[in-house]
Amino acid sequence: MSSPRPTASTVAVIGGGPAGLMAAEQLAVHGVRVDLYDAMPSVGRKFLLAGKGGMNLTHSEPSEAFVARYGKRADRLAPMLQAFDAGALRKWAHELGIETFVGSSGRVFPTDMKAAPLLRAWLKRLRDNGVHFHMRHRWLGWDESMQLRFATPDGEVHVAPDATVLALGGGSWARLGSDGTWLPLLAAHGVATAALQPANCGFDADWSEHFRTRFAGEPLKGVTASCIDTDGTLRSRHGEFVITEGGIEGSLIYALSSFLRDCIAADGSATLTLDLAPGKSAERVREEVTHPRGARSLSSHLQSRVGIAGVKAGLLREALNKEAFADMELLAQAIKALPIRLTAPRPIDEAISSAGGVCFEALDNDLMLNAMPGVFCAGEMLDWEAPTGGYLLTACFASGRQAGLGALRHLQSAAG
Ligand SMILES: Cc1cc2nc3c(=O)[nH]c(=O)nc-3n(C[C@H](O)[C@H](O)[C@H](O)COP(=O)(O)OP(=O)(O)OC[C@H]3O[C@@H](n4cnc5c(N)ncnc54)[C@H](O)[C@@H]3O)c2cc1C
Repeated sequence: MSSPRPTASTVAVIGGGPAGLMAAEQLAVHGVRVDLYDAMPSVGRKFLLAGKGGMNLTHSEPSEAFVARYGKRADRLAPMLQAFDAGALRKWAHELGIETFVGSSGRVFPTDMKAAPLLRAWLKRLRDNGVHFHMRHRWLGWDESMQLRFATPDGEVHVAPDATVLALGGGSWARLGSDGTWLPLLAAHGVATAALQPANCGFDADWSEHFRTRFAGEPLKGVTASCIDTDGTLRSRHGEFVITEGGIEGSLIYALSSFLRDCIAADGSATLTLDLAPGKSAERVREEVTHPRGARSLSSHLQSRVGIAGVKAGLLREALNKEAFADMELLAQAIKALPIRLTAPRPIDEAISSAGGVCFEALDNDLMLNAMPGVFCAGEMLDWEAPTGGYLLTACFASGRQAGLGALRHLQSAAG
């Protein structure tokens, strides 16, 4: 970005997650005074939590496949993701002194798998670039003269920056700061928003007391799960998930969660179909299961012939009635296509991320609100969703960068 440097301008960035910090960085390196406000005592809390299970920064797959992960919003996000793609993100981390590697799944992680060293180095660089941090400042909206209102420990504060970047996060894990209370504040100003919904979430299923007690916490590994989405398309993924007290959760379920959630919203429930022996054809499973078992128990027959034991066998017993379980043809069919009825997504607060938020129709290409010139939005508060795999953070970084550069362009054009 070239001069003029709008040095006399100030921008308020509200929200100190990856999107807000990235927007602040774009502005600060171009000489803009940035005041970053966050409701919490410190920034980046969800980012730090994401680092607990191994910080998955981005994904190394080719650009076309990468962008397609954003489903219906891929077209709107594509320019931002191409301007700040996985390679650019890795280079940016490298410049902060954080090396990354590509895992066997194609996912990209910092070498030490942690978020804290990256956040520490980033915050130091932001401070060195002059970003001013204002913690415990909860944004409450605008006053009648369109100044920003903040609740602080010292009472309410009003500020009037030249531009504002909102990066307030989605609606999950509210205790980390992003609680979605901003949504009605924007809607009241004529900004089109979609209700926040759980994404990358678990689901409720009607387990029997016996199954719940015996198998909650058990992982199902090496299974294929599928569902028919609301457009009638078969969606299928391979991986693993966990039985919970009240249903299912885990990476395989998260990967299908947007389809399952939308089916439940449309029909009241969704059917997840499991292939418990994906390495064997239906014919092979039929041959193995119907093979005479002699004196062997059914359990050891299933284990030795098709590798079905433990929680997989438990799930078959849970889903089939006694007669079906004793009928080898039906049992073989169920091993390859076991329907599980899901009744509800788990609450948004438990989800990894959320869908819904500020609609792209409400934004221009610089992520400025059409209804509120000078106000930009970025990160998970925008109406997009993506599976886990580094796609969430990449879009937060990329949209934060876009909003920051957009605010800079706005200041430059206002300065003439
Ligand atoms: C358990 C878990 C693991 C995850 N793992 C990964 C992963 O490995 N890879 C990946 O790509 N993604 C992961 N994610 C998702 C990722 O962390 C989020 O998508 C990302 O942090 C969203 O960034 P953001 O900047 O948009 O919002 P946030 O990180 O939520 O930041 C929003 C900020 O805004 C502040 N704020 C909100 N409202 C106000 C207000 N009214 N006034 C002032 N401040 C406010 C909040 O305090 C917060 O600091 C994970 C999420 C969870 C919950």
